[in-house]
This record gives sequence, structure tokens and C-alpha cells, in this order.
Amino acid sequence: MIDFHAHLDLYPDPAGAVELCRQNGTYVLSVTTTPSAWLGTKRLAIAAPRIRTALGLHPQVAHQRKRELSLFDTLLSDSAYVGEIGLEGGKDWKPYFSDQVAVFDHILKSCEQAGGRVMSIHSRQAATDVLNMLEAHPRSGTPILHWFTGTQKELARAIDLGCWFSVGPAMLKSANGRSLATLMPRDRVVTETDGPFGMLQRRPLFPADAALAIPTLAELWALSTEDVETLLRGALTSIGRLAGPQK
Ligand code: MN
Repeated sequence: MIDFHAHLDLYPDPAGAVELCRQNGTYVLSVTTTPSAWLGTKRLAIAAPRIRTALGLHPQVAHQRKRELSLFDTLLSDSAYVGEIGLEGGKDWKPYFSDQVAVFDHILKSCEQAGGRVMSIHSRQAATDVLNMLEAHPRSGTPILHWFTGTQKELARAIDLGCWFSVGPAMLKSANGRSLATLMPRDRVVTETDGPFGMLQRRPLFPADAALAIPTLAELWALSTEDVETLLRGALTSIGRLAGPQK
């Protein structure tokens, strides 16, 4: 089981969520929304070797937390993974778009200077802007677009730019999400939940629920669920190699 984008520190019982992942043997990319949350979130997972904790600064809080960029830069040498970062184009956050761009640009430059990072990226209603910035920072690392909701044209461009994708059961509920997943390169896809924000039937998803995406991917890709699981494991191994020595 692979959940490559979950907010373990934002469940009502974070330690309980980590313990469930440990018991289920789930591989998790535990993303954070502020640099100040990174160390505590990483400590939560000390006894869970399949959990990696990513250093992030979420675009929805970029305007409130931009002062934490210096902390981000200090911590970056200790983190092989970066996320959640990116841009959010929804109307509630559009007034702060210039702050978001400044924060994302700073992070991409820091990742370039650090030799590149595996990055879990938010691009809701801002896919073209995200892709423009990734194109401007080609050495920032390996972008993994999480819960991608752009157009098919934007998807094609993302594929050309070398992006990877994390897709989950909530995304695959929509017709657009299913069409996009059908067109994604199958060796560059991993599963995710975006829990506790990702929900199904009004219930927050837990990392083990990422497996609910597998039968849908099998159907869309006309493969057996076993073949999809093999692809997902291969993608996870490739990402691990791209991330380099684990920290
Ligand atoms: Mn998220």
C-alpha cells in the first residue's frame, strides 16, 4: 500500500494515524504545510520506517507563513522530500497569489541549489502557472503533481516536463479525474489519499485507503489489479532512487 500524499499531523489523532500505517505496512509520504511543523511531524514517525516526512509550505498559507522560508532553507539539507508546495488558484486564495508565487519560486530555487528534491505539488486551478515555474527551474528535482485537476493539454505538457502523478480514490470519483488518469504514463503514477482532507462518502480517508484507487486504475488501464500493484511498487522504487539516501 502506498499513500504518497497524506497529512498525518492533521488527523485528530496523529499518533493513532501513524500507528495504523505501521500496522498496515503502508508506505507514506507524510507532507507538511509549514516548515515549523516538519520536525514534530517527522518525530511522530520515528518507529515507522515506511513513512517519509516531506518539508513543505502550502500555497494556501503562503501569505501567512512566508517568514518561515528561512527555516525551510535551514531544514532542507535534512529532508530528501519536499511538499506540500505549489500554487492554489481558487478564489479564496487568488488575492494572495503574488505571495504564493514568491514562496514557490524561492522553494524551487532552494531545491535547485540543494541538488534537486522529490516534490509533492499542489496545482489546483493553477496548473499552467505551476508548469511555467517548473519549466523555469528544471534542476529543482522530480515534481509529483498531486490530485491533478488540469486540462488534458496541461497534462500533456506536465508529462513532457517529466512530472510524476499521485492519484487517489477521491480524484478518481470525477469523470475528469478518470480521463486524466487514463492518459498518465503508467510508470510515473503512485497512489495517494490527501487524508484527512481527501474524503469518500463524507469520511476522511486514511493512508491504507489509497488501495481503493487500484481497482479503478486497473479498469482505466485495462490491466489486472496485480499488474497495477506491480507498476505502483516499481514507481515507488524509482522515486526512492530519485530521492537518494533516505533521511
Ligand atoms: Mn494535501
